[in-house]
Amino acid sequence: MPRKKRSGFGDVVTDRATFERGEARCPQCRRPIGPEGGPSFVRSLGGQESSLATMRCGRCQAMLTLRFEEPRVES
Ligand SMILES: [Zn+2]
Repeated sequence: MPRKKRSGFGDVVTDRATFERGEARCPQCRRPIGPEGGPSFVRSLGGQESSLATMRCGRCQAMLTLRFEEPRVES
């Protein structure tokens, strides 16, 4: 599958720290979203920490898919 840049509807790519601080935003209405929005984490196999969650925006009710990417810190 070609890897196009997805500015996909409802797709939020962030990292965990940004999300925890409530600095991620709904792509539709720009409302800040954070843990208080009640994200449901999609369980991953092998008991690893999930990097995928879904939640609904409290303002515009868009269903959002959150992808948590690790900040790139090479040591
Ligand atoms: Zn929204």
